[in-house]
Amino acid sequence: MGHRMDSEKRLKIAIQKSGRLADMSLQLLEKCGIQLSKSRDQLLCRSQNFPLDVFLVRDDDIPAFLATDVCQLGVLGQNVLREKQAVGNGKFAGLVEELPLGYGRCRLSIAVPQGFAYDGLASLQGKTIATSYKGLLGAYLTANNISADIVTMEGAVEVAPRTHLADVICDLVSTGNTLISNGLVETDVILQSEAVLVKNQIADAEIAQLCDKLMSRIKAVQRAAQSRYIMLNSPTDSLAAIKAVLPGSQSPTVMPLQGRDDMVAVHAVCEEGVFWDTMEELKANGANSILVVPIEKMLD
Ligand code: ATP
Ligand code: ZN
Repeated sequence: MGHRMDSEKRLKIAIQKSGRLADMSLQLLEKCGIQLSKSRDQLLCRSQNFPLDVFLVRDDDIPAFLATDVCQLGVLGQNVLREKQAVGNGKFAGLVEELPLGYGRCRLSIAVPQGFAYDGLASLQGKTIATSYKGLLGAYLTANNISADIVTMEGAVEVAPRTHLADVICDLVSTGNTLISNGLVETDVILQSEAVLVKNQIADAEIAQLCDKLMSRIKAVQRAAQSRYIMLNSPTDSLAAIKAVLPGSQSPTVMPLQGRDDMVAVHAVCEEGVFWDTMEELKANGANSILVVPIEKMLD
């Protein structure tokens, strides 16, 4: 009897333990209905209601967890994955970006000190560039026929020009405030990045099935997040016009209204944003009692 549980295969996912991606990644799993024991300082959380083990690690370690099949899935920035792939001698070639997750957006950019005479990439010829992304930067420079010295720094890259460690930098930017407060100007974007769900080459059929199940839940969560349920009353004779205004809805449900033959009720799932503009346009077409509500879950 006892070995039924032991032989049950479990999917393993690595997410960031703490940092910019940590909260959103944990929330994503929770929105997929996965309950986790709350002890955050552990390396490993086992879900009680889904055969999933969650490894809480540094984002930089996730590609190695995947390459060695300690985990089959990971959530990390494209910047980290692609950098590891650029310097990894093929070690990370089997890792696949399965799904963009829409958070952790940033870009890897070159930035120069204010007053640096920048006139295109050629201005970087022979200069020294500080970065934590020597693989991505190196490939970008090579592709553009620029030869420059790359100085690798683990952190505080933005202070390199002031301390004369480098002429310019290549670093992650989101708002740009860090650059501004260090007297730097962004010149070239090397990579646009966001958090992605990364998968390794899963050999086991049972694990692959668990992976598909989790991925379809994530996709459903993403669809629900951007969808709205819209309800309104429409004049019967402007129904076609009303339907045309509803954003990204396939076939709305049309129902009679008790005691009225000039008006009908229309319910629709809209898979695109429903903005004030849309609502005003619906009203201009004769709709009234317009309600827009969020959708918690959806599954086709
Ligand atoms: P860890 O301790 O896990 O190694 P870290 O310090 O390397 O953490 P964070 O600063 O938490 O990493 O960033 C994690 C990821 O968040 C980055 O790799 C990147 O994909 C994304 N990100 C989004 N905006 C920014 C930003 N402004 N600066 C740095 N990373 C950002
Ligand atoms: Zn890191």
